[in-house]
Amino acid sequence: MICPKCKAEYREGFYKCADCGIDLVAELPLEAAPEAIFKDPVEVFSTYQQSEIAFVKSILESEGIPYFFQGDSSLLISAAGAYARLFVDAKDADRIRELLHELELSVPESENI
Ligand SMILES: [Zn+2]
Repeated sequence: MICPKCKAEYREGFYKCADCGIDLVAELPLEAAPEAIFKDPVEVFSTYQQSEIAFVKSILESEGIPYFFQGDSSLLISAAGAYARLFVDAKDADRIRELLHELELSVPESENI
């Protein structure tokens, strides 16, 4: 088990980091790179709005579509005008764009990464 914050390693049976007080994870999350998750990632959406991020995530999860939000931590977004970018696999991209369009969320033009 590993603390996602301070990266301390714990034996099996530990669930919280003694230093940070946060839940341990079995594996560290992948570094923020959509390429690590999708062979052919396509950016289908970007937003500054936490509410939109949460909304889109809930849709994708209910549809069972794998996705990757780059930079979706609230700290990152509220700081310095950063924004979250949604990536999905190329094979799901058209479907997601359609879905987002129906939901009247802004969809950026298709662009190569
Ligand atoms: Zn820790």
